[in-house]
Amino acid sequence: MDQEKKQNLMEEIVNLARYEDDCNPGEILEGHTDYFKICYCCLAKTNDLESGLCVKCR
Ligand SMILES: [Zn+2]
Repeated sequence: MDQEKKQNLMEEIVNLARYEDDCNPGEILEGHTDYFKICYCCLAKTNDLESGLCVKCR
């Protein structure tokens, strides 16, 4: 899977989880943000992550 597909998939999973059981996306993405290149706070797609957080959320 290319990176964009992975990110879109992750976005969908997170949105579903939010809708279904009011889940914190951070819990789902924890430990996977480097792999998906997604900020676990705002779900921004970025390669510039630090501890899973994008520039804006640090
Ligand atoms: Zn962010």
